[in-house]
Amino acid sequence: MLENAATASGRPAPRLLAVSKTQPAAAIAELAGRGQRAFGENYVQEAQAKQAALGPASAGLEWHLIGHLQSNKARDAATAFDWVQTLDRPKLVGALARHRDPARGPLNVLIQVNIDDEASKHGCRPDQIDALAALVAAAPNLRLRGLMVIPTPHDDPELARPAFRRTRVLFESMRAGYPHVDTLSMGMSADAAIAIAEGATMVRIGTALFGARSPG
Ligand SMILES: *Cc1c(COP(=O)(O)O)cnc(C)c1O
Repeated sequence: MLENAATASGRPAPRLLAVSKTQPAAAIAELAGRGQRAFGENYVQEAQAKQAALGPASAGLEWHLIGHLQSNKARDAATAFDWVQTLDRPKLVGALARHRDPARGPLNVLIQVNIDDEASKHGCRPDQIDALAALVAAAPNLRLRGLMVIPTPHDDPELARPAFRRTRVLFESMRAGYPHVDTLSMGMSADAAIAIAEGATMVRIGTALFGARSPG
């Protein structure tokens, strides 16, 4: 599906992030056995528990934090993850940089943008991206890789297209300024094809991969 949507848009296929929240470690192991390497989790503790259950096999995987990060969890996040996709305020920059073990290499960072300016949503405002990007790029042990977005959910995913398109413009402007920026994380199970057509380089897929999550 990802290949088809990408080919239709004339771009290389995006990376697939398997969103494994609420799924047991065994489901991760099974997908990893079929070659999937990048997994997304919403909670630091949930990721740590699954990594412990997977044992040494978890070191071969790439772990992405895609849920909101509280400052008091920054230390654990800097250790448990290879990527943090939800950096949205200056306070997290120093906390993540300070707690990242340099021996593990830089922590990859995406800035989460609140593209629809929803009051209830996490993510920075579009006009805050430049200042945050400069902070991340200047911080030790962090590597600025791009942007992440979760547009307002719609019954018709087509309605998310303008938000994806605006995010792409912001991404291209960021990419022009920083050498390591290569990742635009947008699109979930319901709207991945539209996100890919609008230039996503990474899609975050949960239910379409693992089946429906059990409620609660
Ligand atoms: C849960 C989640 C996803 C995956 O959603 P699906 O609809 O299950 O594909 C992607 N991104 C974020 C930030 C999520 O919280």
